[in-house]
Amino acid sequence: MQTDDASVRLAAVQQRIARAESLAGRRAGATALIAISKTHDSDSIRPLISAGQRIFGENRVQEAAEKWPRLREETPGIALHLVGQLQSNKADDAVALFDAIHSVDRASLVTALARAMNKSGKQPACFVQVNIGDEPQKGGCDVAALPELLAQARTAELPLVGLMCVPPLGVEAAPYFALLAKLARDNGLDGLSMGMSDDFETAVTLGASHVRVGSALFGARA
Ligand SMILES: *Cc1c(COP(=O)(O)O)cnc(C)c1O
Repeated sequence: MQTDDASVRLAAVQQRIARAESLAGRRAGATALIAISKTHDSDSIRPLISAGQRIFGENRVQEAAEKWPRLREETPGIALHLVGQLQSNKADDAVALFDAIHSVDRASLVTALARAMNKSGKQPACFVQVNIGDEPQKGGCDVAALPELLAQARTAELPLVGLMCVPPLGVEAAPYFALLAKLARDNGLDGLSMGMSDDFETAVTLGASHVRVGSALFGARA
């Protein structure tokens, strides 16, 4: 991808976010755009950095550790978010590498992250991932188990900022986004990580604080 293409794609996504914010009566710039760069190599990521994008997301610790230390050295001020499932034995690596973790979804991981943060002194912002469609194969905490997991995260003093979801594929996402927003409100959380390339405008109108956009910025993944 050339820098020109990256600029055009980035501007288009930013404009669509701005229009959705305006439609919903939200403040301009209320939504943070996370560029999901998983599977894309550093040469494909650099044009987007050159175009001005500074928040990126990856779904695997190992892949992020291979690409991002160098890219961050080249350009200061990049924030890196983890949006994929995290094994407890990678908690130390994840805390060292990421500025935010969107996939906190079980008690054992809360414990592992709290320990890693205490050890390192680093405090990446944490989102609890909710299995919003109650899908058996999907990551995320069950809706019914959310209050207990949030209580545990608060007791462990994790820097909790909000909730995250990936709604079921192939059906209208809006009801799931609305439910996530309600769960966040009910539990006193402001952050809402929701919306991907196919549905980020809907997510913005329903209050997303963070949208996670991959293919609309990078093109299709191989
Ligand atoms: C890959 C991924 C995205 C981005 O998906 P696109 O459809 O390419 O925008 C967002 N969130 C998560 C958790 C992902 O794994």
